[in-house]
Amino acid sequence: MTKYFDGSIAQLEEKVEARLSDYRFQHVRRVRDYAIQLAEANGVDPDQAEVAALVHDYAKERSDSDFIAVIKRKKMDPDLMNWGNYIWHGVVGAEMIHDELGITDSDILTAVREHTTGAGATMSKLSQVIFMADYLEVGRDFDGVQVARDITKQSLGQGVKYQIVHTLARLVKKETPIYPKSLETYNYWVRKEN
Ligand code: GDP
Ligand code: FE
Ligand code: FE
Ligand code: FE
Repeated sequence: MTKYFDGSIAQLEEKVEARLSDYRFQHVRRVRDYAIQLAEANGVDPDQAEVAALVHDYAKERSDSDFIAVIKRKKMDPDLMNWGNYIWHGVVGAEMIHDELGITDSDILTAVREHTTGAGATMSKLSQVIFMADYLEVGRDFDGVQVARDITKQSLGQGVKYQIVHTLARLVKKETPIYPKSLETYNYWVRKEN
């Protein structure tokens, strides 16, 4: 029994595992391990970080039609229809996590919503921890990941800045559309001192 889920962590893991390929479930477990460490180093409740990490990609393998049904049924922002799985699995996924897993902690649900794009001034420490753990988990091996890990160990906020700068640069280079929230994240963190 945990404070954030009506059951044990093992039971929550089972529910997540049932919805994901083995490859993605292993990513989720590595994000959990990294998130607990970052939480402990940054004054965030590690139990809250653990639950948020375990559910962050819960909806990642759902069909587009599942997401579209939720967007319509809940009368979510119609602009969501202009995006795809990469945005939906966090923003719309949070609704599925609430409704299907019974997770009601609003900080956890917000961290899930923000885990792909980050957020500006309102981004909580929990949300920063999940955003960074997803980027830095030990299975990640992109160029610069060790630099990013070192920076984040020194300063969580500098890690957020590093990630958003480098992710946006990569997306722009590929001429991919940028979700407005990602730009908001960039504009806030690029100016921030730490
Ligand atoms: P994952 O679910 O563990 O694979 O990681 P994320 O949820 O953080 O990212 C999902 C995908 O969305 C990645 O390929 C990111 O590069 C991509 N992504 C992040 N921000 C944006 C954005 O603003 N626009 C677009 N088009 N893609 C983005
Ligand atoms: Fe994700
Ligand atoms: Fe991410
Ligand atoms: Fe992830």
